[in-house]
Amino acid sequence: MTLHAPDHVRRIAPYQAGKPISELAREYGLSEAGIVKLASNENPLGMPESARQAMMAAVAELGRYPDANGFELKAALSARYGVPADWITLGNGSNDILELAAHALVQAGESIVYAQHSFAVYALATQEVGARAIVVPARNLGHDLPAMAAAVAPDTRLVFIANPNNPTGTFVPAADIEAFLARVPASVVVVLDEAYNEYLRPEDRFDSAAWVRRHPNLLISRTFSKAYGLAGLRVGFGIAQPELTDLLNRVRQPFNVNSLAQAAAVAALADEAFLQRSYEINRQGLDRLQSAFTDMGLTHVPSYGNFVLVKVGDAAGVYERLLRAGVIVRPVAGYGLPEWLRVSVGLPAENEAFLTALRGALA
Ligand SMILES: *Cc1c(COP(=O)(O)O)cnc(C)c1O
Repeated sequence: MTLHAPDHVRRIAPYQAGKPISELAREYGLSEAGIVKLASNENPLGMPESARQAMMAAVAELGRYPDANGFELKAALSARYGVPADWITLGNGSNDILELAAHALVQAGESIVYAQHSFAVYALATQEVGARAIVVPARNLGHDLPAMAAAVAPDTRLVFIANPNNPTGTFVPAADIEAFLARVPASVVVVLDEAYNEYLRPEDRFDSAAWVRRHPNLLISRTFSKAYGLAGLRVGFGIAQPELTDLLNRVRQPFNVNSLAQAAAVAALADEAFLQRSYEINRQGLDRLQSAFTDMGLTHVPSYGNFVLVKVGDAAGVYERLLRAGVIVRPVAGYGLPEWLRVSVGLPAENEAFLTALRGALA
């Protein structure tokens, strides 16, 4: 080892993304057209046509830097969520928002609390800043908020909560989060990561942006990568009161959200028909996958997102056999779930192709 790097950087295990279609095609000599990728919780409808058109129009201005303050997108988000524009932080994906929180608020040696089996980026953000992770055991594969509140230490600066959670698909109801916010000291920032919020059924929804008014230590994180269908453009946002937003802005790269992403996000936000279709196709696909798992005698975790965690036993072997059949899902051994696979909801034909391949892989 000739290069100097901090120990906390050397200890990082890089993020394992879902296998790209092109990579599977190369490695197994398959044609890309026949491959089904249900590995990264992407929107099976692809990007909205409205966003594609807005993006194409924005191409003309690519010689210039993006709007560093994202005026138009913040104005649209401000109207949508009923918060002032200066409560909004734009991110290069919501991953960026999670990292900004760690960089702005946590020093090396201080602690960050998150749940076992929650989103991998929480561990990465913690390690990047040399912080100490307090990983709270899950309860029924979901967040145990009373235990998380009890785990907050004097040096805890940040808590990450994914709701719904990835990769387990579990959900914590509004009342439990409100009770948690009431218990956590006002000096500890709570990041409520709601990447899958748009997939919640109407009866499970709540106005978390309104909680930001009451809690100066709350940061809501949302994304355009899932229900809005813009994963490849990288755009997400945070909502928090001005003091916290100002801190995030200090460590943000000035041009962290590119012009095409800003234009596409404004259009996608206005495209309620696309969002509704995304919601409906997801509900149908979730019902189909979950009832098929039940019929096959496989345990699954009832999901509130656009993916399902299913227990298959030898997950590494099943994953490999699915790859050979041209179906990419997500192994989750890295999340401490070596017997499970996570499968994203696809189009009806993709779901059927996956189920057929799964029956073959288990036979
Ligand atoms: C997919 C996901 C995100 C979104 O990541 P982006 O950077 O916005 O693409 C954030 N949090 C969780 C829990 C996710 O699963």
